[in-house]
Amino acid sequence: MSKKVLVTGGAGYIGSHTIVELSKAGYKPVILDDFRNSDESVLKGLRGIIGRDIELLKGDVSNTALIQSYLRKEAVCGIIHFAANKAVGESVEKPLLYYQNNVEGLVSILKAASEEQNIPFVFSSSCTVYGEPKGQKEVSEQTAKTIPTSPYGFTKWLGEQIIEDLFHSNNQLRLMSLRYFNPIGAHESALIGELPIGKPNNLLPFITQTAAGIHEKLKIFGADYPTVDGTCVRDYIHVVDLAEAHVKALEFLLKQQSGCHEVVNIGTGKGSSVLEVVHAFEKVNNMALNYEFAPNRPGDVIEIYANVDYAEALLGWQAKRSINDAVRDAWRWEQSIRAKE
Ligand code: UDP
Repeated sequence: MSKKVLVTGGAGYIGSHTIVELSKAGYKPVILDDFRNSDESVLKGLRGIIGRDIELLKGDVSNTALIQSYLRKEAVCGIIHFAANKAVGESVEKPLLYYQNNVEGLVSILKAASEEQNIPFVFSSSCTVYGEPKGQKEVSEQTAKTIPTSPYGFTKWLGEQIIEDLFHSNNQLRLMSLRYFNPIGAHESALIGELPIGKPNNLLPFITQTAAGIHEKLKIFGADYPTVDGTCVRDYIHVVDLAEAHVKALEFLLKQQSGCHEVVNIGTGKGSSVLEVVHAFEKVNNMALNYEFAPNRPGDVIEIYANVDYAEALLGWQAKRSINDAVRDAWRWEQSIRAKE
């Protein structure tokens, strides 16, 4: 069997860490990326970890003909589709960009994957499909989905539906949607990590950039939510654990004799508040972080974390790394970027 795996968005944050884990597991990942939201320097970082160059197909995932012609030439055993835009706020300002890149991109790669051969396919979905969980904070795959309020969230909701409809049209296809919770951290080598473009919206890059002196203060959005300490609660998962889940997802699909569309939560099963993350960062890295409380961020979910029983039962996967590991690795990565400046 061919060991080639096509990874769209393989130069991005989760994509690059998945390239490392696929290589470690004996696969030959191929990056499909046009670097619109990533930097070619990630290739050097990957070479440093893996010890060889990773094959690159430079191009746009919406270019179906490019993917089809590649798949006709090369035997590919799996496709993992990361390439998409992911900033919630930006998606509200530029909805068409999100519908074009995220929906058109998904349709394009699915067309190529399902028409050429029956290639196992893994989709990056998100816990955003649950919206604000009603009553329970722990969500399982059976928890009702809610139409997300942001165009970004809706592209993930719709993406799962597109895959489900495709499966109904051809039940031999092997498909999986992974609902990520909040990925944080970086590879422990500090050779790859998250490279936010502009001012970060996500918590961890804002924390590390504040610690590095780029921002004066972290603003903690909301202090009087009905949670353990008044700040919002999320399920933060180390990006390397998340990358390992993709290898398990691919291996599961490769073993299937008949078709499926599995939907699986990928989190730790544990919620942490914003303040708990800040305090973990301070303690592990032995530094004080400048922060203040600020008004609630509109649209924020108050508290959500994953029920991960299905991931364990189906994939034999569970997260191994802690919040402490993640904040240590995130800070190492931030320091390595600043050292290069
Ligand atoms: N957050 C914060 N300050 C920031 C960025 C984020 O207090 O500068 C909070 C945010 O309000 C939320 C949590 O951190 O409660 C996680 O936010 P993020 O944007 O990383 O993830 P998401 O809200 O999409 O789960």
